[in-house]
Amino acid sequence: MAMLQLQKDVEKLTRSARLSDAVEDVDKIIELLSEARERVAAANDPHTTSLTLTKLQNPIREGLDTLNNDLRNVHKAQKDFEKALKAAFSKTKGTLPTDHDPMESHETLINRAIAMHLLREGQFGVASTFINEAQPQPQPQHEPSSHPSPATLQAPLSRSVTPTDEIITDADIPTDLNAWQSQALQTAFAEMYSILSSLKNRDLFPAITWARTNCAELEARGSNLEFELCKLQYIWLFKGPSFNGLPDSSQNGVLGALQYGKENFGRFQHRHLKEIQKLSCALLYSSNLGMSPYHSIFDITQAFEEVAASFTREFCSLLGLSAESPLYVAATAGTLALPQLVKYTTMTKAKGTEWTTANELAFETPLPKSMMYHSIFVCPVSKEQTTEANPPVILPCGHVLARESLQKLAKGSRYKCPYCPSEGLMKDAKEIIL
Ligand SMILES: [Zn+2]
Repeated sequence: MAMLQLQKDVEKLTRSARLSDAVEDVDKIIELLSEARERVAAANDPHTTSLTLTKLQNPIREGLDTLNNDLRNVHKAQKDFEKALKAAFSKTKGTLPTDHDPMESHETLINRAIAMHLLREGQFGVASTFINEAQPQPQPQHEPSSHPSPATLQAPLSRSVTPTDEIITDADIPTDLNAWQSQALQTAFAEMYSILSSLKNRDLFPAITWARTNCAELEARGSNLEFELCKLQYIWLFKGPSFNGLPDSSQNGVLGALQYGKENFGRFQHRHLKEIQKLSCALLYSSNLGMSPYHSIFDITQAFEEVAASFTREFCSLLGLSAESPLYVAATAGTLALPQLVKYTTMTKAKGTEWTTANELAFETPLPKSMMYHSIFVCPVSKEQTTEANPPVILPCGHVLARESLQKLAKGSRYKCPYCPSEGLMKDAKEIIL
């Protein structure tokens, strides 16, 4: 709740604490002064000079008043935000334990995670500076010839929409941050952002070309990305010039869609015949699509955002990376867990107890569904979460419990299910992979 309020406050701050008004005020004052100077210089007589200066007084005073007023507004908005920040964070009671930092000895690992995060976010300039500064000192000697010329390195990034002000050169990369990998990743992510930017501008072709080039890998992953993109292109053309803003020609509209479908859908017949049939039949209803049974397929309000998300996912997976930055996920999950951790540590300190569980958190962390990557099983007998060493097992009767619990219940090689009358042999209990 506090976070939502804070987000609103940030929005308010960005809305009201803009210095652009003040800059405009100053520009107006400068303009007035410049005009006056020109007039004085042109006339070159004392009478005009004094008259111009007298005339200048009031407008300048007014200008300065407006400027002060605008600056006051900015200052007020900043003060308000400061209060909002204090209010939002004062609600967190207790302090975090600082005596033990499990990541202390893993500085290189953390630096690597940060560098990777910046690279995959497309912040190449920041990543370059970060990697450079994270490098152990003192620096080896820099020879100008060891730096590839910026022009050649910039080339693959020229299409990128994200800042590419600085390029990571081999000399900048510390031994632990594998040089070629950073460079290759940067080039790869530059391509990804370039394609994403085209998608944002409703241009599907770069994404389709990428999907076609990588169709074998995508298909092996069971991905439908290429078809989804072609399907969207078909619908995009189908909607015609009034919707897609493309030139009104035989390449656009229903005819353009038909042509596009003829040229491209053939390769998807074996996997998506039903959908292709629906898309083709919709041509018959082109004049009255809203009333046709195909109405819902042609609703593409979210379609571009959806293909962009699945493109990002597939692109990252072909690079062997998750769709979301691990650092982002870890930091977000950690932030969500913080209030619980603070509460827990305050409680254990008061009771004089200690955290004893090794493989699980001692408290429940409320994470959103998108952050749950696998199921959790809590044994109904021991009330403990199962682990790799103590996995859940399913009995032939269908009841599930942790293996250690079952071993405790068993007599020799036989057990009796704690939840129903059935009995069986230990070897019949099968491990479940979550
Ligand atoms: Zn049972």
